[in-house]
Amino acid sequence: MGETGGQNPYEKRSLFDKVWDQHAVRELPTGQTQLFIGLHLVHEVTSPQGFQMLRAAGLPVLFPERTFATVDHIVPTIGRVRPLADSLAEEMFEALESNTAEHKIQMFHIGSGRQGIVHVIGPELGLTQPGMTIACGDSHTSTHGAFGAIAFGIGTTQVRDVLATQCLAMQRPKVRRIEVRGQLSPGVYAKDVTLHVIRTLGVKGGIGFAYEYGGSVIERFSMEERMTLCNMAIEGGARVGYVNPDEITFDYLRGRPYAPQGQAFDRALSWWRGIASDPDAAYDDVVALEGTTIAPTVTWGIHPGHAIGVDECIPKLSELPDDERDTAERAFAYMDLKPGAPLAGTPIDVAFIGSCTNSRISDLRTAAQVVEGRHVAAGVRALVVPGSEAVKRQAEEEGLHLVFRAAGFEWREAGCSMCLAMNPDKLRGREICASSSNRNFPGRQGSPSGRTLLMSPAMVAAAALEGRVTDVRELL
Ligand code: SF4
Repeated sequence: MGETGGQNPYEKRSLFDKVWDQHAVRELPTGQTQLFIGLHLVHEVTSPQGFQMLRAAGLPVLFPERTFATVDHIVPTIGRVRPLADSLAEEMFEALESNTAEHKIQMFHIGSGRQGIVHVIGPELGLTQPGMTIACGDSHTSTHGAFGAIAFGIGTTQVRDVLATQCLAMQRPKVRRIEVRGQLSPGVYAKDVTLHVIRTLGVKGGIGFAYEYGGSVIERFSMEERMTLCNMAIEGGARVGYVNPDEITFDYLRGRPYAPQGQAFDRALSWWRGIASDPDAAYDDVVALEGTTIAPTVTWGIHPGHAIGVDECIPKLSELPDDERDTAERAFAYMDLKPGAPLAGTPIDVAFIGSCTNSRISDLRTAAQVVEGRHVAAGVRALVVPGSEAVKRQAEEEGLHLVFRAAGFEWREAGCSMCLAMNPDKLRGREICASSSNRNFPGRQGSPSGRTLLMSPAMVAAAALEGRVTDVRELL
């Protein structure tokens, strides 16, 4: 970590500024910053090319002890027999195994009890800590910002750069503080807040910004809710989203396997407390939202900004800004939903509870509360895919799997599953899926014509039970 670049000690700074400056090695002639990366997370889809380029250059991994790997995107969630039936998936799996073995990188293997979606296991193992810079070849690395880290997704060439040098050349973004004030109504969750932010600021509104989330709603959020929130910063265009660390953060980290232990934890605490934004820190922009105005939120179109409250009607073309009309027309045609019609009541074929946005234990508990004593509607295929082996184990200890199975849900092994459908869990044909994941792009869930409605796990549960988009508040 480098010098703080002549920082004025009296200037009030945001967490972003403090962490960035602590990790700045030097300013590059391009105007970018050479940034030291504290933690590099690796998975099977975006790392093989990085390792290959490293090999071609004859370079070792510079900091294998700062690099951790898991397999998540391509793993089947039933019948995990090796070799995998999908030869391409097996190839990626084997490449990750041999690359991590060759470079002495810790890999969390299937059956280790620690495998899972990279953005679920990093935090639950205590690898993700406040004040870190974290990179991973995956867009939703912003999730880790929930701990007060600067965390962002990188491309395969940058994976190579981090493997070889533990550094990246990065353009410093501006910082926008998003305050969510007041409180949320019952039946409204972190997923609704993050969709509401994207709806309000747009899918491109965050380009060039890091988002600092704050305000009373966020301060009361659990760590898992903060992770859901930060997970989708990238869907609003912000590569980085973060929450200042506080006692909720520290309580979550205490005792986790890779968190500092004993006196080292106490020493870390004073450093973590110091990196939170100063009370009167300066921001490039501040946006305030009122929690009570947020309803259970559902997408109707082909990007996460196409979102409305479940009690609203799908917008008419004339109600949208000029520059959004082309995309909206494509969305109406693709989704086969009627402008001006209510979204509630839209029939669904599939219900998916999972993904790095919403597959943690609190998500499963919330969904199970909705489901308990009820049954999935006839004709609906419903899946619950825990985010990690640890989440699955915990859920089974609490009997949640029995609740889901009794209601007609399939209970699966940990992985990305139908979020991206790089494994056998796919939509078929024009199926429409109520999904707790984070992207509703055309073809995202494995069928080129499949359709996705993003919503909270509680709303997915309600849709599964009723066979149509349903306001979960009616079932609570
Ligand atoms: S769950 Fe989905 S968004 Fe998250 S890492 Fe996996 S494929 Fe990416």
